[in-house]
Amino acid sequence: MPKSRSSVAAANDRDRSEIAYVALGSNLGDRDGYLSRARERIGRIPKTRIVAESSIAETLPIGPAGQPMYLNQMLAIETSLDPHRLLQELQSIERDEGRTRSVRWGPRTLDLDIVAFDHTQVHSPTLVVPHPELRNRDFWLRQLEELRGVK
Ligand code: ATP
Ligand code: CA
Ligand code: CA
Repeated sequence: MPKSRSSVAAANDRDRSEIAYVALGSNLGDRDGYLSRARERIGRIPKTRIVAESSIAETLPIGPAGQPMYLNQMLAIETSLDPHRLLQELQSIERDEGRTRSVRWGPRTLDLDIVAFDHTQVHSPTLVVPHPELRNRDFWLRQLEELRGVK
């Protein structure tokens, strides 16, 4: 069903939608379960739909030694949310899934990062896109290539 649009766009609504790439990571507990619930929740964010899902990669943890391995996946989503509003939605999903932030780069049930937009860059105190670590994370580069190939 087509979405209706009001004549006055909400403050957090952009004129048009664009593709964003969101990285999902989990290295605690039922990692597959966290990724799967994250996909389901992301699919229910307003003004947003999932366009494509990358394969799931198992990767070595970044940060403190002795952590369990990560499962990582990337989603291409189409969204008309403002980038900061999108980040808020993702952080609210992280919170609901029991994420705590005790140690920098420490283990976590669910981590959701905005890796890139197709046409937007952001440099604010709370959000930098493309993600500054993109070039250093081979698994992100591979997943991004995978997703850009299928669009
Ligand atoms: P990294 O960002 O290196 O993967 P991390 O995911 O462990 O590390 P967090 O503790 O999850 O880091 O996030 C810290 C802050 O980073 C967030 O509160 C958020 O404001 C900020 N941030 C900046 N740019 C982004 C982005 N592109 N995606 C997600 N968070 C971002
Ligand atoms: Ca991260
Ligand atoms: Ca993060």
